[in-house]
Amino acid sequence: MFELVSAAPADPILGLTEAFKEDTRTQKINLGVGIYKNEDGQTPVLNVVKKAEAKLLESESSKSYLSIEGNAQYGLAVQKLLFGADSDIVSSGRALTAQSPGGTGALHNAAEFAVNHLGIKTIWVSNPTWANHGNVFKAMGLEVKQYEYYNANTKSLDYPAMLSSLEQVAKGDLVLLHGCCHNPTGIDPDAAQWKELANISADKGWLPLFDFAYQGFATGIEEDALGLREFAKNHSELMIASSFSKNFGLYNERVGAFTLVAKTPEVAKQAFSQVKAGIRANYSNPPSHGAAVVSIILNDEALTQEWHQEVADMRVRIKEMRDLFVKTLKDEGAKGDYSFIQGQNGMFSFSGLSKEQVASLKSDFAVYIVGSGRISVAGMTKNNMLALCQAIVAVENA
Ligand code: PMP
Repeated sequence: MFELVSAAPADPILGLTEAFKEDTRTQKINLGVGIYKNEDGQTPVLNVVKKAEAKLLESESSKSYLSIEGNAQYGLAVQKLLFGADSDIVSSGRALTAQSPGGTGALHNAAEFAVNHLGIKTIWVSNPTWANHGNVFKAMGLEVKQYEYYNANTKSLDYPAMLSSLEQVAKGDLVLLHGCCHNPTGIDPDAAQWKELANISADKGWLPLFDFAYQGFATGIEEDALGLREFAKNHSELMIASSFSKNFGLYNERVGAFTLVAKTPEVAKQAFSQVKAGIRANYSNPPSHGAAVVSIILNDEALTQEWHQEVADMRVRIKEMRDLFVKTLKDEGAKGDYSFIQGQNGMFSFSGLSKEQVASLKSDFAVYIVGSGRISVAGMTKNNMLALCQAIVAVENA
């Protein structure tokens, strides 16, 4: 039977990493996958994570199963990050959180609950969006529709087009929003636009699903929750998929969370019981280590401070790389105006490079970029900048 199965296409992002690993050229640069690199091109374990892991090693007394929803202290800490430590959503019990295997697992939990228990058939995602969104939602049987987001000419948010395409959203459809640092464009709505979107959503009866994978990479941990908190003000129901892969550097520990906010604590509990039933049938209960580390950090004031600082260090380095990238391209005589990259948030930028230019960068210069032209700025360093920019200028002139 197995011979009848046709091969799946390589994943556009992780497939690129495979190809990069196999490339034997010494001067190769990987700006494909969204992984933070420091100035030495390494992805080290955060100091604060090392400290929490030392504590955990000392205090951990059992490897017994967690509950279906995972570590309760972690869940509470996640809610405080999302809504603010003093939020009445947290204190009221209107929010319930399941520890999930990565942000991807959390998105899956959300989709599963929406399809199986709310009867939702359609999800709206931005055009463009993270390449894996379609996979996750289609795997759960959702129809994936797109709303406009990016204007390729102005390289900015096409807010009027976004609003007009969102008019087609039916009451009760899921609408996916990127909490901050939109992947792949690096362009987020501003404060006024978030407020307006929240009002439209509440009026029209959308069910918002926030994908929050980069909290702290735009402006700050608290500041980056602005959009979500606008929605939380006037929505009695919403869902959030958090990922701590990037902001805690815990990529391979698979640390995420699915949070459901309901009208009342009673409704939350009832609905969440089905989230738990779904998890039981899927992976039964979550892996412990990464979330235990996050919980230790977020439940300790000094460690939390240190974490804020380490996130700020990552954020500032990426911003410096944006500036240096734009400057170096200019110095090297690039034809294009890349200054828009300086105003974008998070790890990614949509470079505007064509598919042919991306292909040539890979084959002729060993520079790996996702086919859409998305560049992971977090992979740039002072050491690889000149070679990178010279390669871009060369493909511009080809
Ligand atoms: N959402 C977005 C927008 C992402 O960029 C990512 C990670 N690339 C995820 C979700 C999933 O994160 P995780 O690796 O924690 O599953």
